[in-house]
Amino acid sequence: MSLYKVEAIVLKARNLGEADKILTLLTKNQGKLDAVAKGVRKIKSKNRGAVQPFSQSRIMLYQGKSMDTVTQCELISGFPKIRDNLDRLAYAGYIMELTTWILPEKEPQQEVYFLLLAILHLLQKAESKELIQLITRIYEVRLLNMLGYQPVLEVCANCGQPVKTGKIGFSPPMGGILCYNCLAEAPQVLPITQGLRAVWQLLTKINLTNIHRLKLREEELLALEKTLQSFMEYHLEHRMKSVDFIHELKKLTNCT
Ligand SMILES: [Zn+2]
Repeated sequence: MSLYKVEAIVLKARNLGEADKILTLLTKNQGKLDAVAKGVRKIKSKNRGAVQPFSQSRIMLYQGKSMDTVTQCELISGFPKIRDNLDRLAYAGYIMELTTWILPEKEPQQEVYFLLLAILHLLQKAESKELIQLITRIYEVRLLNMLGYQPVLEVCANCGQPVKTGKIGFSPPMGGILCYNCLAEAPQVLPITQGLRAVWQLLTKINLTNIHRLKLREEELLALEKTLQSFMEYHLEHRMKSVDFIHELKKLTNCT
């Protein structure tokens, strides 16, 4: 198999030399892989759109010893509206960074591919900041579940008792929700309400065409973001650079 065709979403594109790029692709059938795209930074290159981050493209690859080379590419969807708006662009950038970091190389991830594609289509149409944030949280929740990092939300992660009533907490090192009795002894406990626990569960299963109906208060969105970030930073042992960019962006837009 020296030449092969993939359908892929471009997660990342970094410059190489004068005119080339190294792409990180999430392919539909072969998982995440890196490939060199030669000459694509030349102004007249007709392939430019197909190798930009967020683009969904059909790509012909030539198998190399260390890295494969793009020989042909054709754009399926460039998601131009994501690039039109700073919020959509920042959150899409974060989603790409998270996906690049979390996925192993060359392991088929078809479920993640279709989730990411659905999320990009939703993001492209999202007008409000709240909806953009909600879409991002849904992606995080589902991506973690698909890759086996799902937190325990139904029962206490320590003792297994039901947690549907009463005061609860969330501990990233313990891997989920804690009942009142286990809170005092647990490490790094974050506050979480019963309402937020229910929202988190809902995000794992709500039909994506209905998310416009889900109205979360600003403080609920913020609490969900903080809890998910702490959970991911603990388990992935990494903080995404684009998270800091989003925080800066929030500060700037709150000042105006
Ligand atoms: Zn407990």
